[in-house]
Amino acid sequence: MPALQLSAGSGYHCFIDNQFPGENMRFSALIVSLAAAAVSTAVMANTPYAIVIHGGAGTINKAALTPAQQQAYETALTEAVNAGYQVLEQGGSSIDAVTQAVLVMEDSPLFNAGKGAVYTYEGGHDLDASIMRGDNLAAGAVAGVTTVKNPVLLARAVMEKSEHVMLSGKGAEEFAKLQGLTLVDNRHFDTQFRYEALIKAKAAMEKAEAKTPHQASVRLSAGWSPAWNMGTVGAVALDKSGNLAAATSTGGMTAKRYGRIGDAPIIGAGNFADNQSCAVSATGHGEFFIRYRVAADICARVKYAGVSAAEAANQVIHQELVKAGGTGGVIVMDNKGNISWPFNTEGMYRAKRTAGQLPEVAIFQDLAKKSQ
Ligand code: ASP
Repeated sequence: MPALQLSAGSGYHCFIDNQFPGENMRFSALIVSLAAAAVSTAVMANTPYAIVIHGGAGTINKAALTPAQQQAYETALTEAVNAGYQVLEQGGSSIDAVTQAVLVMEDSPLFNAGKGAVYTYEGGHDLDASIMRGDNLAAGAVAGVTTVKNPVLLARAVMEKSEHVMLSGKGAEEFAKLQGLTLVDNRHFDTQFRYEALIKAKAAMEKAEAKTPHQASVRLSAGWSPAWNMGTVGAVALDKSGNLAAATSTGGMTAKRYGRIGDAPIIGAGNFADNQSCAVSATGHGEFFIRYRVAADICARVKYAGVSAAEAANQVIHQELVKAGGTGGVIVMDNKGNISWPFNTEGMYRAKRTAGQLPEVAIFQDLAKKSQ
């Protein structure tokens, strides 16, 4: 048997004590591939993997949020960002990382996605979600699903197991069943605080409707609270192989009707990922995010205008959207792992974690807080 001595320094030193040349050659090949694996592990170890998540943007009234509620949000955000981070740390893919992070938030009653989704005008829940890979621009999305426990899993199944990008309503649910995804009664998504928001929202809508009948702009009227839409969730990540991914999931807007679909499941509006530029997940007044194709616009500015992802996101959120009257925010990551999270509202639930660091959680326009 050849004797092999591995030094702890920069390379391998080996002493071959063997009289059979053929075996020596095979052994040399083994050493070369071991060395190549070591180099690629070293490259991977230096790759700046990272994840950033959001749990919705809007009017988050500091005074109205009790310390216990704030703590609950911070805990849930930390749990979600850590779930995604662990995948990345162990060498998993960014698409798995964003899926895991969004799953945690969909299963939490605190966010407007999955359990905790807002109510439609009729008193049910219609869920939208999307997911995208930055390496090959594969994408999947679902809109208006009512019985799929985790819409992000269905969006992912659409991406991976169908020839389509977007499925909706009953057909999407049929596909979910075929894929063996967990189905639940629509009442699974009920929460008391969202129900109270529905009652208030409907009262505000009726008042506005009485004043100016058939106006589509009821949500921009004085009585409307942006808090009623809050809580869409999203995640973007960069893995050790340098691949970006993004996922977004939402219940949409409180009291939405007529089958309204927002930006969250629209690729390029509420979600986008491209290794050549950046990955984005959005939250806010979806109609504006669709019209201003927010996620794709940010990445296009990076790709074609050569601005940084942070600058591009600031331009779109603080200039384009503000001019148009659109409220909300985005989480953005470029292909080097640089993160930005601009929003033009009072707050945005958010958290990030970069390689080897503790998670940072923030809600208002203040500095992020590091946590365990
Ligand atoms: N963007 C979501 C929608 O319009 C709502 C939100 O993020 O608050 O459906």
